Amino acid sequence: MNWIAWIILIAMIVDYLFNLMADIVNLKQLSPVVPEPFQNIYDADRYARSQEYLKVNTRFEWWVSSLDLIIILIFWFGHGFAYLDDWIRSYALGPVGSGLVFVGVLGVIKLFLSLPFSVYSTFVIEERFGFNKTTVKTFIMDLIKSLVLSIILGAPLFAGILYFFEVAGDNAWWYCWIVVTIFVIIIQFIAPTWIMPWFNKFTPLEAGELKNMILDYARSIQFSLKNIFIIDGSKRTNKSNAFFTGFGKNKRIALYDTLVDQLTHSELVSVLAHEMGHYKKNHVWINMAIGIIYSGVMFYLLSIFISYDGLFNAFFMSQPSVYAGMIFFGMLFSPIDFFLGLLLQSLSRYNEYQADQFAAKTTNNPDALVSALKKLSVQNLSNLTPHPLYVFLNYSHPPVLQRIKWLNSL
Ligand SMILES: [Zn+2]
Repeated sequence: MNWIAWIILIAMIVDYLFNLMADIVNLKQLSPVVPEPFQNIYDADRYARSQEYLKVNTRFEWWVSSLDLIIILIFWFGHGFAYLDDWIRSYALGPVGSGLVFVGVLGVIKLFLSLPFSVYSTFVIEERFGFNKTTVKTFIMDLIKSLVLSIILGAPLFAGILYFFEVAGDNAWWYCWIVVTIFVIIIQFIAPTWIMPWFNKFTPLEAGELKNMILDYARSIQFSLKNIFIIDGSKRTNKSNAFFTGFGKNKRIALYDTLVDQLTHSELVSVLAHEMGHYKKNHVWINMAIGIIYSGVMFYLLSIFISYDGLFNAFFMSQPSVYAGMIFFGMLFSPIDFFLGLLLQSLSRYNEYQADQFAAKTTNNPDALVSALKKLSVQNLSNLTPHPLYVFLNYSHPPVLQRIKWLNSL
């Protein structure tokens, strides 16, 4: 084993143990006492049920991540990557063709290994807690659609990257960078109108009090908004959500039908005000800029490591290749990715406070957002008292009690 293999192996194990530890302290933190702001809407039974949901999911995640780790180690040290590569090379498909097959086969293996887990999660765990609305047909169709989508969108992009690294030499990394950036921007534009409607039905919100309230609010903060849609989230789950997609004219608000059923009109406006706050505070652009810089750095580092034999020796490969190099580099990069991820997550939590503040100030009604957050937490059986370590590792949003405290302090 060379130093690259050691780094990857240690990173995998440390990551696994670290998450395990966070899970343990997170469960230890649970107490049967309902936190004060929730005492009027949570009865002891339902609160216990939310904690049971957390326990069941945590145990399930242990199984998934343990098996994940074992399988990847067996595949790696059983020379799986090398056998797969030798087999593909025997068909002499050229570097781009071989790369597509190599990544395709790994993707299919991963998909089939994860399938039993997602079936269990959807049809056993979510079902048991009354969340699941997904039919077997929807589940299978979702699978097929995502597969088709990743082939239509992913394969040409990946082929382009391989091609540049084969022919463009030292320039390859920034060619790839530009292509990926353009690709991501195009996806952002077409996602709301071309991709998402494939999975969910978007129905324009009918004229009436709610629509007027939302449009009035948007006008009051000079937010150009034409499209408000109700999306049939209830097709898959009883959990609720709201989100924005797209940019400029393509921008649309989507409210889950489940959300509309649960919240009052002013609560709904406050939730949307929060979402619009993300736009007004430029969070959307900042995140996009970070993503673009990040991919540039990745491609540059990839271009350095791709010609380093040690990267391939670590995985027992007899011949180097751009496609395998990309996968191995991704694994080598994961410790850096981990720390960057933590940084981005804390930025995201900070931004959530900013968006909450924006909503509270501009609607002049922080109580509406507080009661919306409460209802959503109860409905989704969210953990009200996560451990700070767990939050630090996993939460893109601050825990709900902290958001309520923050809103009350404004
Ligand atoms: Zn937010």
